[in-house]
Amino acid sequence: MGSAVVVGAGPGGAVLAYLLARRGIETTLVERQEDFAREFRGEVLLPGGLEPFQQMGLWDALQTVPQVDLHGGWLYVHGKHVLSLSFADDEFGPYGPRWMSQPGLLEMLVAEGSKHPSLRFLRGVTVTGLVEEGGRFTGVRLGGDGGEQEIRADLVVGADGRTSIVRRSGGFEVQQDPTVMDVVWCKLPPLAAMTDPPRLRGYTGHGHLLIASPVHDGMLQVAWVIPKGSFGEIRKRGMPECLDAMADHADPELAEHLRRHRDDAIAPFLLSTVSDHVRQWTRPGVLVIGDAAHTMSPVGAQGLNLAIRDAVVAANHLVPVLSSSAAAFAVEAAARAVEAERAREIRLTQRFQRLAPYLVLRDGWANRVFFAAVRRIAGAGPPRERVSRAFLRVAMGVDEIRLRV
Ligand SMILES: Cc1cc2nc3c(=O)[nH]c(=O)nc-3n(C[C@H](O)[C@H](O)[C@H](O)COP(=O)(O)OP(=O)(O)OC[C@H]3O[C@@H](n4cnc5c(N)ncnc54)[C@H](O)[C@@H]3O)c2cc1C
Repeated sequence: MGSAVVVGAGPGGAVLAYLLARRGIETTLVERQEDFAREFRGEVLLPGGLEPFQQMGLWDALQTVPQVDLHGGWLYVHGKHVLSLSFADDEFGPYGPRWMSQPGLLEMLVAEGSKHPSLRFLRGVTVTGLVEEGGRFTGVRLGGDGGEQEIRADLVVGADGRTSIVRRSGGFEVQQDPTVMDVVWCKLPPLAAMTDPPRLRGYTGHGHLLIASPVHDGMLQVAWVIPKGSFGEIRKRGMPECLDAMADHADPELAEHLRRHRDDAIAPFLLSTVSDHVRQWTRPGVLVIGDAAHTMSPVGAQGLNLAIRDAVVAANHLVPVLSSSAAAFAVEAAARAVEAERAREIRLTQRFQRLAPYLVLRDGWANRVFFAAVRRIAGAGPPRERVSRAFLRVAMGVDEIRLRV
């Protein structure tokens, strides 16, 4: 039987460690944080990220995690309500988008994984680098004084996110994409009209994008998309003025709510948007997945979902080799097969993510033509269904993913 060390217990690493351990593969999952709440990550699970939980047999456990099942979304262009999407659509089945507590989700995953004696979960332990022997990576080095200094394994999986040490220590070559936006996040008291049933609202036009949604802790989460580099100016003017600017782009109901709570923004922070991917997901003895392989911009809420989907595909390829001889050549071939299967979906998603901010965040003639087309399409029957189906396609994931192990 082979062994694996998985660095990072975000959604990608926690799902993969669970899937390897339940097949009896000696798996060590290393997470630098003691408390999952200390690492901020996206919280929207789309059908493409939800369906794997059914396949993993974790569907009932997932229902115990604090979450809001979104019933739909309303889109406003230049202040006018142009499109209502129903997520309770038959096409989504039970997998309509959910806003889900990430600490809750990750605690559930590591608890399920820990039911299998082959999982060792090291919490509050930082990986500081890779161990290299004879041209192959054979393990990880651990930080901290005393105690265990190294862990050896047949494969190291870097699932350690956008600042991945595995990516850096392994000498992975990275291709950066230009990004034009950042996102200001904050929470406000709930708005009753948006919670019963729970619906997300998006406001676009005049070079801005505002998204507001009820979330699992009962609050209203607000995301304000701003041109990259403009946060300094916003901070100087203060959050109340930022909320006033958001209110100018919302419908009267939300605008009134934002103005009423202009001094109550909780935990405002900036998400500096990054989009990149490694040129190859593998080096001898190492595989990277999730944000470590392809840091996703927040456009379309894809990052969590793609990390989970990477983990499922990785398990499909790795379980057969790690549960037999685990010969180095076979492990490396399996790791390359993960990249071969996942690269297309990542490439297409990142292309879509690069295009969207140009359409939304500029206010030139091309954008006005685009929004006029959106309004026309949204008003008509069959084109409107095509828009809904295009949305569905992105939400479901470009490729079909099925757990086989
Ligand atoms: C503010 C914000 C909002 C976002 N919004 C969305 C959204 O709405 N929808 C969406 O789908 N995506 C969103 N994303 C992106 C999403 O969070 C990521 O794409 C997703 O979490 C990637 O999962 P992952 O498992 O690859 O990595 P991560 O979730 O980043 O997990 C990596 C883990 O590795 C650990 N780690 C890092 N370095 C080490 C080390 N040296 N040793 C040990 N452990 C280590 C970290 O503590 C972390 O727990 C958002 C991201 C941010 C930052």
